[in-house]
Amino acid sequence: MAISFNVPPFVGPELEYVREACEVNHKISGDGPFTMRCHEWLEDRFCAQKALLTTSGTTALEMAALLCDLQPGDEVILPSFTFSSTATAFVLAGAKLVFVDIRPDTMNIDETKIEAAITDRTRVIVAVHYAGVSCEMDAIMDIARRHGLLVVEDAAQGVMSTYKGAALGTIGAFGCYSFHETKNYSMGEGGALIINEGKYNEQAEIIREKGTNRQRFLRGQVDKYTWEQYGSSYLPSDMNAAYLWAQLERADQINDNRLASWNAYFEGLMPLSEAGLLQLPFVPEGCVHNAHMFYVVCGSLEERTDLISHLKRRGILAVFHYVPLHSSPAGLRYGTFSGEDEHTTDISNRLVRLPMYYGLRPEDLKSVVSAVREFYRA
Ligand SMILES: *Cc1c(COP(=O)(O)O)cnc(C)c1O
Repeated sequence: MAISFNVPPFVGPELEYVREACEVNHKISGDGPFTMRCHEWLEDRFCAQKALLTTSGTTALEMAALLCDLQPGDEVILPSFTFSSTATAFVLAGAKLVFVDIRPDTMNIDETKIEAAITDRTRVIVAVHYAGVSCEMDAIMDIARRHGLLVVEDAAQGVMSTYKGAALGTIGAFGCYSFHETKNYSMGEGGALIINEGKYNEQAEIIREKGTNRQRFLRGQVDKYTWEQYGSSYLPSDMNAAYLWAQLERADQINDNRLASWNAYFEGLMPLSEAGLLQLPFVPEGCVHNAHMFYVVCGSLEERTDLISHLKRRGILAVFHYVPLHSSPAGLRYGTFSGEDEHTTDISNRLVRLPMYYGLRPEDLKSVVSAVREFYRA
């Protein structure tokens, strides 16, 4: 009897909606009725100026990077403790990467170390909201304003989280969501770009539609459509959007269920944290999270390796996370680390994620908590 690390979310009506897309709507390419429903839902629920579904969180980041209009030699500031997509999207757009250390409490970019990384070539700061817990957005937006930089939020893990009441993804110029099967809401592979300033809307539509003004044509604003500029095919099939729609309709049900699991982990492991045996997640004041992930930070790399094996022997899959990008082959080629790596590599060596998904059974969660406690009692 094994306890998986992740189970893709499934709430019930997904297949019925996919069937509706195929057999009733006869619309399986992009921007059909289900996509439109998802757009409206995201805009209403998060008070977003504009939402566009994409084929992945990665391509939402690619669109954001293209909309930043980077020139060769321009620099982008980002944490090294993140997924490759955060970085590679900006490399494709021609940028040079400048990695900044993380905070050892939230694992988010250390806002106090950003200014030292700014040069006259800096154009963008990428705020990655690790585990769905917000970066210090007031400080980051203030730095961006003072230096004339754009902020892109990698909110792949932050759908339904807020910072001082604002939905993650709606604070910077652009927000990027992921609906991959490992994320809180899913369409298999998919994502969304949130555009927070209307001046980017039209160009975003063009970039998403192979560089054409097809959207203006569909709205009757031009009488034929034409190739206007660079772009790609960033819109997902309406079948995928149908799958996602079932989950957005039940977003609170999914969120509540995950939060209940997260809180049970937190309470169950609190005694170990109080005894100084391991570190639990930290949620700063003003941040409301979405229980995307439950991680613990062990005392050392060896201890983490032993904990993962201990859990595995009990049929529990726990996994570590990012290898710091600045020490990866591509990171070495495309970027530099600004300042000192005080926490990125250290945290990367000691952090481990516990099973967390919609519908995690309370008895399974209890088994995980018991197994972790047993490890530290021994
Ligand atoms: C999942 C994830 C992505 C990429 O999303 P995909 O939908 O898998 O392309 C990007 N950034 C972060 C931080 C993520 O967790």
